[in-house]
Amino acid sequence: MFRQDFPLLSNESVVYLDTAASAQKPEIVLREMDTFYRTSYANVHRGQCALASRSTAAYESARETVARFIQASPDEIVFTKGATESINLVAAGYAQTLRPGDEVLVCVAEHHANFVPWQQACLRSGALFNVFNVLPTGEIDMNDFREKLSDRTKIVAVAHMSNVLGLLNPVRELTELAHRVGAKILVDGAQSIAHTSVDVRDLDCDFFAFSGHKLYGPTGVGILYGKKSCLESLPPYQFGGDMIRHVAVDKTTFADVPVRFEAGTTPFVEAVGLAKAVEYVEAIGMRQIEVHEKELTHYLIDRLRTVPDVTFVGDSLNKRGLVSFNVGDIHPSDIAFALAQDHICVRVGHHCAMLIHHRFGRDISLRVSLGLYNDRNDIDAFMRSLKKSLSLLRGDK
Ligand code: PLP
Repeated sequence: MFRQDFPLLSNESVVYLDTAASAQKPEIVLREMDTFYRTSYANVHRGQCALASRSTAAYESARETVARFIQASPDEIVFTKGATESINLVAAGYAQTLRPGDEVLVCVAEHHANFVPWQQACLRSGALFNVFNVLPTGEIDMNDFREKLSDRTKIVAVAHMSNVLGLLNPVRELTELAHRVGAKILVDGAQSIAHTSVDVRDLDCDFFAFSGHKLYGPTGVGILYGKKSCLESLPPYQFGGDMIRHVAVDKTTFADVPVRFEAGTTPFVEAVGLAKAVEYVEAIGMRQIEVHEKELTHYLIDRLRTVPDVTFVGDSLNKRGLVSFNVGDIHPSDIAFALAQDHICVRVGHHCAMLIHHRFGRDISLRVSLGLYNDRNDIDAFMRSLKKSLSLLRGDK
């Protein structure tokens, strides 16, 4: 629908079905960053000259744009280098405050970025690392969650949308349950942010993390939203320029949040690019994107169901924007290699989520993921290539 907005997709005869790994960039984001480098570039928060003022104003305006996009306030928005760093920032803080007897509760379906930092925080602090399960549908097993949640739980970490299952998790309900026992909740929004409206006030989550590059923005920039009181109670993550208030030999005091978490030169040009990507998505309208992607995901699933021996990772077909599957015992890498010959880009592997694959008795899967620029022609091209590849791999006459 919007393919013409994306120079790479307009110029290359590629069928790009790997948006869950990273989204392509619209012309206006590329132009915004190019113009910024050419006309407004100087380090932020540091200089008195007009360039530095322009640069700082653009950076702080990007913070406001991101805040508006998720219904937060600007002082609750920390610029990081991506969702992984956002989560590590919070987990590193908790590693210092957790004590033996405390518990951390994480979903089995998490991307390693929202699993390993918590596991390591528990190893360091002596807290118990607890994992709740999903049902055969791929939906969260709420009974297991309720059983494992207790007044010892200090923080729950869960994805808004799994990058393997493609299901939206009931974050509001999980948050309410977590808050009832006094636990905080971190929501990994790396996948959901480009596919559904996010309102952190409505979700009531304590932290929300995402990356710019999955939202049609540049690489190297991400967001950590935190309720102001939650950010204020976290120790600083990294130390250096800009994040201090006063430095003396015997003691350093730190700047207020969110700058306290932005040590060193920040990815400010990328932040400006991300704000442009947000404006691009807002101009199309998240509602329109959701309708388009839902329709296309159903079309993809219907077509895949016509292929003998296809099994989806997670039985629920209520998926959004991505579908992970296997075809009998054919190695997914062989299929992906064959698809690549027809310039079809999909993802093969464990998608940085080994445990959810093991939960469904697999090591790896093929993943097709969609963006606002995909249409039925892309799915049809993929299906033609898939059927041809399977026929070759099965040695059909
Ligand atoms: N969480 C989820 C659900 C993801 O899908 C990803 C990336 O694929 C991440 C976290 C990590 O994002 P990044 O590599 O941009 O930090």
